[in-house]
Amino acid sequence: MTTALPETNRTVQREVARVVRGRPTSDGAGVKLTRVIGQGDLDMLDPFLMLDEFRSDSSSDYIGGFPEHPHRGFETVTYMLAGRMRHGDNQGNSGLLTAGSLQWMTAGRGILHSEMPEQEDGLMWGFQLWVNLPAKDKMTAPRYQDIAPEQVPEIVRGAARVRVIAGEFGGVQGPISGIATEPLYLDLRLEQGAQLNVPISFGHNAFVYVYEGQARVGGEQAPALARGDLGVLGIEGGTVHVAAPDAPARMILVAGKPLDEPVTKYGPFVMNTPAQIMQAVEDFRAGRF
Ligand code: FE
Repeated sequence: MTTALPETNRTVQREVARVVRGRPTSDGAGVKLTRVIGQGDLDMLDPFLMLDEFRSDSSSDYIGGFPEHPHRGFETVTYMLAGRMRHGDNQGNSGLLTAGSLQWMTAGRGILHSEMPEQEDGLMWGFQLWVNLPAKDKMTAPRYQDIAPEQVPEIVRGAARVRVIAGEFGGVQGPISGIATEPLYLDLRLEQGAQLNVPISFGHNAFVYVYEGQARVGGEQAPALARGDLGVLGIEGGTVHVAAPDAPARMILVAGKPLDEPVTKYGPFVMNTPAQIMQAVEDFRAGRF
């Protein structure tokens, strides 16, 4: 027997349930980054498996890049704030990611790709988010959505600006389509004093990651989130209130439908069972990617 949730729950404001700080680590060929999701304090937030922020103006922190490596069973989403990154894969696809651009790569049954800086100095800044695929889609054909900066709609609401990368805000749809977990991915820029209500699909997991300044997420009593704080939003409610009462703020707000399926991770392979992981390793070694 199920009990319907009271209708009021649908208008309840979401609050920050917990705050997580990322951990410094390195990946690829020595790229220094901060892992916010996918580390001990926040192993995953279904369907999000990993969130990395890379930000450095010292080329030794990023110049090694991410030479050729495989992925299977999930999606990688790269969003650039600054710098230039070249993407290439074993099927001859290639693309340049510049500031404000985005690549949503559905790895599906497998790709071999590289992500290399196309600059020798200057700031490199952005995010990589890993989004899980449902069991039925893990072996789908690989797919890319390469989005140029001017393809991302920007909505102005008073002293707030919202770039809609995926999902919908204010009646405007982002350029990313056909993703199983129905993601919302917004990049918010709030001047001091700005505030905004953001609708979030009922039952979807959601987080806010502040990457500049300081923001208040939730009701009047909510504590401020500082740069580098990830606020995991509670599951109750259909809207979150975001404000910047004390300082300007920039943040990403991401939500998605939880899959509620078993997750078995092994490096760049994310499947449902250990047997599927062994198959992935075997396929990779046999050159079947
Ligand atoms: Fe990769």
